[in-house]
Amino acid sequence: MKNLEKLKAAIRGKKILLFGPPGCGKGNRSRDLEALGLVHVSSGIALRAKVRNKPDSELSKKAVYYMKRGELVPDDIIVPIIMEHLNRRECRENGFVLDGFPRTKAQADILFSQVDLDLVLYLDVPRKFLLYGIVEGNRRVCVDCATGYSDFDPPKVEGVCDKCGGKLIKRTDDNIKTIEKRLKLYDEQTKTFLHDIESKANIEILPITVGNEEKIDDKYLKKLKGQVYWVQTDQDSKTRMLNLEGMRKRLYNLLAEKFI
Ligand code: ADP
Ligand code: ZN
Repeated sequence: MKNLEKLKAAIRGKKILLFGPPGCGKGNRSRDLEALGLVHVSSGIALRAKVRNKPDSELSKKAVYYMKRGELVPDDIIVPIIMEHLNRRECRENGFVLDGFPRTKAQADILFSQVDLDLVLYLDVPRKFLLYGIVEGNRRVCVDCATGYSDFDPPKVEGVCDKCGGKLIKRTDDNIKTIEKRLKLYDEQTKTFLHDIESKANIEILPITVGNEEKIDDKYLKKLKGQVYWVQTDQDSKTRMLNLEGMRKRLYNLLAEKFI
């Protein structure tokens, strides 16, 4: 985008929340927003970092107990971790992209009582693709920067992160049983308060699908083994989807329209 510098200046200091189910691309959209200068605050990364740094602490053991099962860790663990991070100077000065929090109504109530968000981005991805993308697409993530890859969006060199050269691993909780549980929790506990947020924040939908009639350059579409990939949607029709580059473009266009 020609106006990237202009967009960076316009976005500085903004507080953006990413909302959507597991596997909808929150990690990659966070990368795109980080590239504009926002600080990435991710509950999943923060929890995994806590556990890695102090594996034997009571807090880590408790967190691991829930994370392994794909269940939500208790609010008294996650809320202070996130709120402390959001209050740091780096977040206040540069703005932030919040990813993976809030996941419960209680978390949302605390967040909205303390932080005035500029934008909530709802990442809309067909349910059929969420499981498929993680399991069949063989999702792997960078241990250092958490960029996600799959067979639809493979790294240039297998096992190595394009962005930072970090090692790519498969998450131990990316198995079908745990993901189904995480999706169920999302439907029951997280998605239900979306309408609640609507009155408190400015929500924009960022779809991953491309209308059948929409003309779009092949290079922006998800492909599998070189072929454009069509996914069966929840409404029983087929649709194409944007790849990483296509989504970044769609995101930046939306932000430019909103903030410039
Ligand atoms: P995903 O979005 O792919 O499910 P995350 O990396 O965001 O994964 O989170 C991994 C795990 O960390 C979750 O399954 C859950 O156990 C825990 N977790 C992350 N965010 C929260 C949160 N806001 N509240 C409670 N638990 C959380
Ligand atoms: Zn990386």
